[in-house]
Amino acid sequence: MNKTFRATAICLGILLALFLKPVSAEVPQVKIRVAQYEKTLEFVMPDGGTWVSGKKSGKIQPGKLYRIDGTIKAKALRRYHLMVGSAGINKPELLNAIEKKFEAFKTHRFQAGALPSLGYPDNRIVFVGVGIFENETQACEQQNKLATDNISSWVFIENIKLATGHIKLTTGKQTLINSTSGIQLVANKFTTLKKAEFAKGYSWHGFEDRHFAEKLTINWGAEDLLDCVEHTDLEKLIIGIVPSEISAKAPPAALQAQAVAARGEMLSKKGVRHLNEGYDFCSEQHCQVYKGIQATDKAIAASIRCTRGQLMQNHEGGILDAVYGANCGGHSSANHSIWTSNPDPHLQGVSDCITQSEIDLTDEKTAANFVLSPPACWCSTANVEGADKFRWKKVLNSADWHKVEAAAAIGRIKEIGSFIREVSGRIISMKITGENGEKTILKELPIRQLLGGLRSSFFTVIWQRDPSGFITGAEFSGAGWGHGVGMCQTGAQSMALAGHKFNTILAHYYPGAKLKKLY
Ligand SMILES: [Zn+2]
Ligand SMILES: [Zn+2]
Repeated sequence: MNKTFRATAICLGILLALFLKPVSAEVPQVKIRVAQYEKTLEFVMPDGGTWVSGKKSGKIQPGKLYRIDGTIKAKALRRYHLMVGSAGINKPELLNAIEKKFEAFKTHRFQAGALPSLGYPDNRIVFVGVGIFENETQACEQQNKLATDNISSWVFIENIKLATGHIKLTTGKQTLINSTSGIQLVANKFTTLKKAEFAKGYSWHGFEDRHFAEKLTINWGAEDLLDCVEHTDLEKLIIGIVPSEISAKAPPAALQAQAVAARGEMLSKKGVRHLNEGYDFCSEQHCQVYKGIQATDKAIAASIRCTRGQLMQNHEGGILDAVYGANCGGHSSANHSIWTSNPDPHLQGVSDCITQSEIDLTDEKTAANFVLSPPACWCSTANVEGADKFRWKKVLNSADWHKVEAAAAIGRIKEIGSFIREVSGRIISMKITGENGEKTILKELPIRQLLGGLRSSFFTVIWQRDPSGFITGAEFSGAGWGHGVGMCQTGAQSMALAGHKFNTILAHYYPGAKLKKLY
């Protein structure tokens, strides 16, 4: 009896010791969608490799052109949730408060994010919605109705089922496999995907050959397209992302700050952004631009090696969603004003002026002066890439204006005003009065999009009018490029040039957040 008891105690002791031993996290494995094709794609492996599909596999000859043809059998199934708020899974009081605020609606909860692995903070999030729709148009109609009552919301796509179909791999006239289980490509060195489409919907949209070193899987996805997904680890991905996000010629401290920010941003969104789409991130602006292997990879890898495993942690020990943008315009924005999210104490906006630490850009007159005669800012330093985005001009002529009227859909426009500006000077609410009614546009992105695709919503404007007072055109003077939340990439480069280390740059843009080494 005694012996058994002792043996049990020893076993328990060992188990307890194992449990209490600090767990060091592993480098996270990630899946990134690197290209999408309608139904046909071509690829080459310059040094050869292997294809695998189900239990079958075969060789890919070096330098030979291969082709994949897909035939869709069943389309993907999706639903559209209209969301009004969100909170971390461990914040029930916040969730209750959001539901209370929307008690006039029938609310529902929706959870995203995967169970955290050992050593990682929990990034699971619960969204609060006010409606579920079968199609996007209905969801958007309801969203517009809410906006009229000054309620901002966003449409969250729930992927219920991915598309299915056949995928055929051929080379020349030879068919290697025709299967319904997708195809894996494992290259000895890398795979070149021919004519990969990028930046769909942007002015720099195009096609180019892109090279990927890690395993690729090709299968039907959530958008009824062939998704090419690279399976890699976060450190390799960061090396590829940094030169796409910030100039590879940027000083090392700026590259290092960018690496730390990107690592945290990706980990906080892993399992949330592209829930049930078969991958964690896309390689576009929506997540983070990633073009695969680039000429600068080796130099970047050496520059950012010292930041391996490091990210920004928030005051509660969770991962900070360390977002960033091209150029803040002189002051960064507050996260909850730009997106429908809870205020993050580390993302409330800071002055990027070199000598002025406080300025009230919510005031219309101060904001206009700041746009037209700005003080010296980190992101206005002339010798830094991106400084040309600090101030901009845009003119909408009468043809451009007809497009604005068509999008606003309330006839000829008499007045645009009642601007509400958030801390960075960006307009987050404006009222449009047309001959057929009134409309309130909330949030900076819809405002920029409606007014002909402005670089930011931090602007002053002179309206052109016809004799009866209707607006016929506009001259914008603007500041900054993008949402302005978090790190200003232009400012980061200029701080690095002035001799600041990456941790100082991060502390400036994410005040109060701590640098943490996860692995
Ligand atoms: Zn994405
Ligand atoms: Zn800036």
